[in-house]
Amino acid sequence: MDEKIAPQLEELTRALGDLEKTGIRTEFDKLLAYRVPPELAKESILRKFGGKRKILKVKDLSASLKNIEITGRILDLGEKAIRPQEGVQESPSRLYTGVLADETGSVMFSSWKELPGSIGDVLNIRNAYTRLWQNRIRLSIGEQSLVSIVPNSSIPPLSELSESPAKKLIDIGAADFSVSTVACVLQLSHREVLVRGKQSKVISGVLADETSRLPFTAWVELPGIDIGSLIRVEGAQIRMFRGMPSINLVSSTRVSLVGPEEAEKLAFTFESAAKEPALLKIEEIASRDSMFDVATAGNVVSVRPGSGIITRCPECSRVVQKGNCRVHGKVEGIRDMRIKAVLDDGTGAMFVMFPRELAETIYGKTLEEAEQLMFSDISKDAVYEDLRRFLTGRYLAVRGNASQGEYGISFVAESSWVPEDDLAVRAVELLQRLGQDEEDSGFEGGINLA
Ligand SMILES: [Zn+2]
Repeated sequence: MDEKIAPQLEELTRALGDLEKTGIRTEFDKLLAYRVPPELAKESILRKFGGKRKILKVKDLSASLKNIEITGRILDLGEKAIRPQEGVQESPSRLYTGVLADETGSVMFSSWKELPGSIGDVLNIRNAYTRLWQNRIRLSIGEQSLVSIVPNSSIPPLSELSESPAKKLIDIGAADFSVSTVACVLQLSHREVLVRGKQSKVISGVLADETSRLPFTAWVELPGIDIGSLIRVEGAQIRMFRGMPSINLVSSTRVSLVGPEEAEKLAFTFESAAKEPALLKIEEIASRDSMFDVATAGNVVSVRPGSGIITRCPECSRVVQKGNCRVHGKVEGIRDMRIKAVLDDGTGAMFVMFPRELAETIYGKTLEEAEQLMFSDISKDAVYEDLRRFLTGRYLAVRGNASQGEYGISFVAESSWVPEDDLAVRAVELLQRLGQDEEDSGFEGGINLA
């Protein structure tokens, strides 16, 4: 008897822990006593005691999820030996890595145990977890995970899943592994980088279509392609960099020029794509995980501590506190200036970081002038206080990159200006609101007239 139910007991133990201690063995035996087949009994126990298991699709995966269930087809599978750490274990262990996909996207996975299937098989994985690895979500299959092959699954076939879907730039995100798209080259430059100790040439730049812009990197040569070229890329890999998707053209990516006939049918031209981005509402920016090279405008509602003159480590550029770098200890710091402000346009708010050159422009004082203020004042917060007085309430437009962070959107400004033509519109709006105010005295606007 016990031999027959051994596989079910083993699986239950892996999923739920000690069966005797938790009383689950008694529950299981009760079901068997009612002549429930062992496999069904196991399923029923798992349903009952499996905890708050979340059944998710690939597109719903985020970092740091626990106890999730997911079903997907193996697109890619490889294994490598991990050398044992000294004194920890005797033999090298194997790590299985690959790509799992369903109809909503694909995700990289790693598993410390051998998987029951191979490329093309559909796996049901329970009690898996996720973590961030190189800025991407990775599905982790551990000792406690249950993995089984799903025959006759409704997950699309391999041929369909491994096709890289054609996408507009704005729809490309962290859940994409490989995409195809048509875009024009807005920027392009060559540089040399060290890859595993070898000097390599890479091309980097910006692609644009009628929806958005994204950075790209080419690890292959792009003959005949330059700024202004309309190109089709098929099988480009998406990697995440600083919370932003970036398009990687690798050796398996097909890159071709779009012919004049096809170019006429596109919803954009180089001229239209190269135009300065229109001002977006902050709520629109907040509705996406990240946006590359966008513009918005709003009022500075607060200037955050940490703005003003800061000192950076000469080795790693980290902000130095009291002459000490977190990594390099006591260092002779380099002075820098930055502003961290909250910008609000009535539809939403976001943190904006202005690096030195922009900080100097919008503050109207150079780093040296700010230093003078710091030295001439007894308060060590003189520059911060001055910045607060000067900037709070000001209306500013910013252009740069936005990404969702722990505390909402954070925006790194690459340029900033006062939108002149907007001032007239805003003045009219303000007058209208004040006019209304006289009638119903329901003035609730957030405009500071002082
Ligand atoms: Zn340092």
